[in-house]
Amino acid sequence: MQTPENYQETTFRDRPSTFGKDGKRVVLFPKLPKGKLTNIRRIIAWTLLIFFYLAPFLKLRGEPLIFLNFLERKFVLFGNTFYPQDFHLLVLSVIALIVFIVLFTVIYGRIFCGWVCPQTVFLEFLYRPIEHLIDGNPEQQRKLAEQDLDAIKVLKRILKHGIYLIISFFTILTFIAYVTGTAKLGEIMDGWPMERFGLLMVVVAFTGAHYFVFSWFREQVCTIVCPYGRLQGVMLDVNTILVGYDYKRGEPRGKGERGEKGDCINCYSCVDVCPTGIDIRNGTQLECINCTACIDACNTVMKRVRKPSGLIRFASEKSISEGKSVKFNARVIAYSAVLLTLLIVIVYLFTVRGDVETTINRSPGTMFQEYGADRYSNLYNLQMVNKTNSEVDIELKLLTPEGEIILMGDPIKAEKGEVTKRDMLIVIKKENVKLSNSHLEIGIFEKGELIDKINTTFVGPNSLDVKQ
Ligand code: SF4
Ligand code: SF4
Repeated sequence: MQTPENYQETTFRDRPSTFGKDGKRVVLFPKLPKGKLTNIRRIIAWTLLIFFYLAPFLKLRGEPLIFLNFLERKFVLFGNTFYPQDFHLLVLSVIALIVFIVLFTVIYGRIFCGWVCPQTVFLEFLYRPIEHLIDGNPEQQRKLAEQDLDAIKVLKRILKHGIYLIISFFTILTFIAYVTGTAKLGEIMDGWPMERFGLLMVVVAFTGAHYFVFSWFREQVCTIVCPYGRLQGVMLDVNTILVGYDYKRGEPRGKGERGEKGDCINCYSCVDVCPTGIDIRNGTQLECINCTACIDACNTVMKRVRKPSGLIRFASEKSISEGKSVKFNARVIAYSAVLLTLLIVIVYLFTVRGDVETTINRSPGTMFQEYGADRYSNLYNLQMVNKTNSEVDIELKLLTPEGEIILMGDPIKAEKGEVTKRDMLIVIKKENVKLSNSHLEIGIFEKGELIDKINTTFVGPNSLDVKQ
């Protein structure tokens, strides 16, 4: 039966960590973590942030590093342009990515969330440090939040939220640059904003949403909104490697004589730094984003009390319960091999994609024709997509069998990003047409260099007719 005394035992985890008993939001004031893992995370986060803000402005082969033009369905990734014709690549990559994420989570838990997810990177390495700079440490932040408005509080709020709004505004402009390109963004920004009222409203709405998420909503994105976070329950098991507390070593917690107490001195340093407000000593919880802040905090404490580090560490539930170090068992190795294979497949798919994609099909409903006294001809439709960033001069040659390609119209100049269409005749000597359906190989040449080979068929009279 539930009593006030056993409330914690009987009701534990009947609500997310940021909900109070009355169902209202519990605002968190986490400490900024310090330690080896935090330093590595900071380097990764700042690399990602700098890349995010610069990618649309940096050029490679005359194109932005990343350009996602959904309206014209043109996408540029690291100098490679993708068009609707590459849709299959996108579908395969998305499928591979989903399998990758599931397998990765099964083995390594939610480490993506704490280390590279934009929500964590923006919040923990941009917005939160600004808050600490202006509002002070967590105790000072809490005091400021609870006190009545005075001149200092107003000033601090204006400064902090002003900076948040400026960052949100430039972040949204960067997003727009990803979609429109920087040149178009420059055009949009030129002139009086009210002249483009619709666009202005879009920028205001997205800036507002971004500001709302990072100034107020914060960790609730991870704990109650993110679908990936919600899926953790079905992806993790006792072998998953995640941030875990070694309860065998740590319990019973508290200060006391060696042998009487475990290594956990119950200092709450791990709870103080947790950005989702949980106590990892209660076991794996849905709010844990595997940010490793508690590992750094606890390691600092362990150093201070002269005990080995790793009371909180990357470990599986099984390894902790068995008191063993985490092992890369057959399952982990097999899943990792699948992950590596998927990565190789994705990279391969993108690298084998030709710069000029050509399709040549026989014109529908046509048969062979006599072409002079000693040759047959077939009519073909050619379609060519130039995925490079410049115009390409193309030449076609029949590789097998011996014959001639007669192009209708001007020589082919495939415009950058355009689809070029031509009709053409392929003419072959009668003596070389042995079958009613012969195999043809056509070479696609750019500046004399063979860049692709196309296989198709040539229709002739049936073999009986040929003999006659
Ligand atoms: S429990 Fe530790 S790893 Fe999990 S979110 Fe909190 S600080 Fe990060
Ligand atoms: S930081 Fe370490 S010692 Fe302190 S409460 Fe957490 S687990 Fe225990």
